Amino acid sequence: MKVPKKKPKKLIDEKDVRLDGRGLNELRPIKIEIGVLDNADGSAYIEQGKNKILAGVYGPKEAHPKHLSIPDRARLRCRYHMAPFSVDERKSPVPSRRERELSKVIRQALEPAVFVEYYPRTSIDIFIEILQADGGTRCAAITVASLALADAGIPMRSLVAACAAGKIDGRLVLDLMDTEDKEGEADVPLAWMPNSNAITLLQMDGSLTIEEFEQAVNMAMEGCKKIHELQKETLKAKYVAVKEEVEE
Ligand code: ADP
Repeated sequence: MKVPKKKPKKLIDEKDVRLDGRGLNELRPIKIEIGVLDNADGSAYIEQGKNKILAGVYGPKEAHPKHLSIPDRARLRCRYHMAPFSVDERKSPVPSRRERELSKVIRQALEPAVFVEYYPRTSIDIFIEILQADGGTRCAAITVASLALADAGIPMRSLVAACAAGKIDGRLVLDLMDTEDKEGEADVPLAWMPNSNAITLLQMDGSLTIEEFEQAVNMAMEGCKKIHELQKETLKAKYVAVKEEVEE
C-alpha cells in the first residue's frame, strides 16, 4: 500500500536546495525520445522529473466528419488525457473539465507553429497520454507534442518549448513539481516559439506582484531556451541515425 504524501514544512532549505535536490533555477532532468510508436504518423515521449508523457500525431488526413473541415486550412485537434494510474488517487478515465481545458490551451499553444494553411480540409490529431503526472504536465505535453508533430513531417515555423516558473516559500523557482505546485504560492506556465520569439501560452495560478510576474516570465523563458536546445538535439540525433542507416 502507498503511504500518503505528507505536507512538507519547508519547500526550500537554508542552502536554497529544493525537496528534490534542485537549485532554484534548475530544470528537472529531461529525457526525450522521438518516433516511439510505429502506428502513429509521428510520436515522441518525454520524462521530465517524474512526469512520463507520450504524444502521438495522426494526419494530415481528410477531415471526418466532413462538415468539420475548414476550406482553407487543416483543423488541429488535441486530446490531453491522464491515465487512471497517472496520479496518487485513481483518476476517472472520463475526460474532466481540466483535461478539456488543457486540450484546448495545448492546441492553442501549438497551432501558431504549424503551417495549417498547407493542408486545407484535413485534420491533424494530437493525442497526449499522461502516464505519470508530477506537476507541469501541460508544459511537458507541449514540448513533446511539438516534437511528435515534427516527427510526423508536418511543416512547422518552429518547435514550441514550454516550461513553468513559480513561487514557493516566497522565492521564485523554475519548473515546479507537484508538491511545489500544490504547496507553493504561484505557478506561471509559458510556451515559447523560438523562431518568431512568440509566447503561445501564458497562464498564472496563484498570486504574484507585477515585478515577480515579470521575473517569473523571464525565468520560464530561460527554461524554454534550454528545453528547445534539447528538442533540437533529439531531432538531429534521430536524423543522423536515419542518414547512417540509409548510407549503410
Ligand atoms: P500541470 O500538470 O500543467 O501543472 P495542474 O496545475 O492542473 O496542471 O496540475 C498539477 C498537478 O496536479 C498535475 O501535474 C498532477 O500531478 C496533479 N493532478 C492533476 N489532476 C489530478 C487528479 N485528478 N488527481 C490527482 N492529481 C492530479
